Amino acid sequence: PAQSMEELVSLCKRRGFIFQGSEIYGGLQGFWDYGPLGVELKNNIKASWWRTNIYERDDMEGLDASIIMHRLVLRHSGHEATFSDPMVDNRKTKKRYRLDHLVKDQKADVVAQVAEGIGESVENFPAVVAALVAKPARASEVLVAAGVRDPFSGEVGDWTEPRPFNMMFKTSIGPVADEDSFGYLRPETAQGIFTNFKNVVDSTNRRLPFGIAQIGKAFRNEITPRNFIFRVRELEQMEIEFFCAPGTDEDWHEKWLRARLAWWEAQGVPREKIQILDVPKEDLAHYSKRTYDLMYDYPTLGYEEIEGIANRTDFDLGSHTKAQAELGIQARVDENLDSVAKLTIPHPETNKPVVPFVIEPSAGVDRAMLAVLSEAFTKETLENGSERIVLKLKPHLAPIKVAVIPLARNREEITNVAKAIKADLQSLGLGRVLYEDSGNIGKSYRRHDEVGTPYCVTVDFDTVGKGEDPNLTDTVTVRDRDTLQQERVKISELAGWIQARLR
Ligand code: ATP
Repeated sequence: PAQSMEELVSLCKRRGFIFQGSEIYGGLQGFWDYGPLGVELKNNIKASWWRTNIYERDDMEGLDASIIMHRLVLRHSGHEATFSDPMVDNRKTKKRYRLDHLVKDQKADVVAQVAEGIGESVENFPAVVAALVAKPARASEVLVAAGVRDPFSGEVGDWTEPRPFNMMFKTSIGPVADEDSFGYLRPETAQGIFTNFKNVVDSTNRRLPFGIAQIGKAFRNEITPRNFIFRVRELEQMEIEFFCAPGTDEDWHEKWLRARLAWWEAQGVPREKIQILDVPKEDLAHYSKRTYDLMYDYPTLGYEEIEGIANRTDFDLGSHTKAQAELGIQARVDENLDSVAKLTIPHPETNKPVVPFVIEPSAGVDRAMLAVLSEAFTKETLENGSERIVLKLKPHLAPIKVAVIPLARNREEITNVAKAIKADLQSLGLGRVLYEDSGNIGKSYRRHDEVGTPYCVTVDFDTVGKGEDPNLTDTVTVRDRDTLQQERVKISELAGWIQARLR
């Protein structure tokens, strides 16, 4: 695995996985562009998630809802009121920071002083942040007295009171930009699932239990985007809302936890690199009965959330439904006089309409990509003493499945065979197969190691009967990325050979 974020950032830029957004104009913080190989890897991760969660199950449906949403959706979901992070300003530098990030990044003795100043134990960091938020005037004094430094200037700051900063992006809709003609860019994909609950049930005749899955962009105006693609302002999520009868929710929560860990393992993110955080009651969001955060051991950052798996009770559908009073909703929900739909489904036992409970496994594509890259990243010293970087990606995730390389690029008898092999392998539908006549086989191998191409197929003079060994006619050399073994394979058997190994 990667030892530092730095080496990943460097590989990603050098080989075309990830670039800074708007880079030629100085870049835009919190926005990243996925390059030629990044887009393949990302698509492969999403395809694997979709396959596992929709095609391989029979209790799931897919959805692709719009990104811009009616403001009432985000009002009744609770986001207008509560989707915020605490922010403080330094009056000296005019810089703004997310309160918890600012404090966490201070020297240990400063953090301890802040905790003591606000009357909380330094061991329970979320409680320290909660207390700072609850007592803003005191918080401002404590931050100054503890000598909390501004990461930008390195000097002790003159800190304001913390205040909530809502992270939703607004955009105006239509030609008249007045106060009311705006929508929100969704801050999570989940709300599109809840607002389409009735549409999906009515059009598919689903009965409980069943789930709806969605992959798509979400937008969060993070106060301090940082750590490469770990915390970004435009992100992509892979989310499931699994609907079940109240009372069966705890069981489904456990099942989903196991299913999700198995999926991560299949992507090359091993079980021992993920800690399951059973979020303490006092840190739970108000709608959550229980949440498991999957914490992956990121290089440089340490354990941070890669996926959250929450039991959200009947809060979401209960908040978005009409006729709330008559539905026996268990969660505490705000009154909704705007919705025109009753979001119920027959209870599997009583057949009476019920607002189902929901289990939500929610993973970030960008954070998945970072974890997958980090696990695959390998530095090896070869027998001859030289060092190589190789991405040991699972074959189903590799951006390029096979590179077909003619040993001479100006000899048609060789390039024609190589091109025919490329076309043949491409038609297998395994993903991208690349014909590459760079003219330098050593360089090609090095590049394909670094981008994780499982197999390189070389067409040489022997292949076309112009080499030294006539027995090698109509055979090619296949080089294995991980073992570096080279095997001579008959062209007529190549497709089967590759297919058997890339399944
Ligand atoms: P954090 O505490 O790290 O801000 P969160 O608890 O707000 O994350 P959720 O709202 O649970 O995150 O979002 C579900 C998933 O979406 C996360 O597990 C993560 O993988 C991804 N995600 C959330 N915010 C971001 C972001 N700013 N950049 C990249 N991925 C994100």
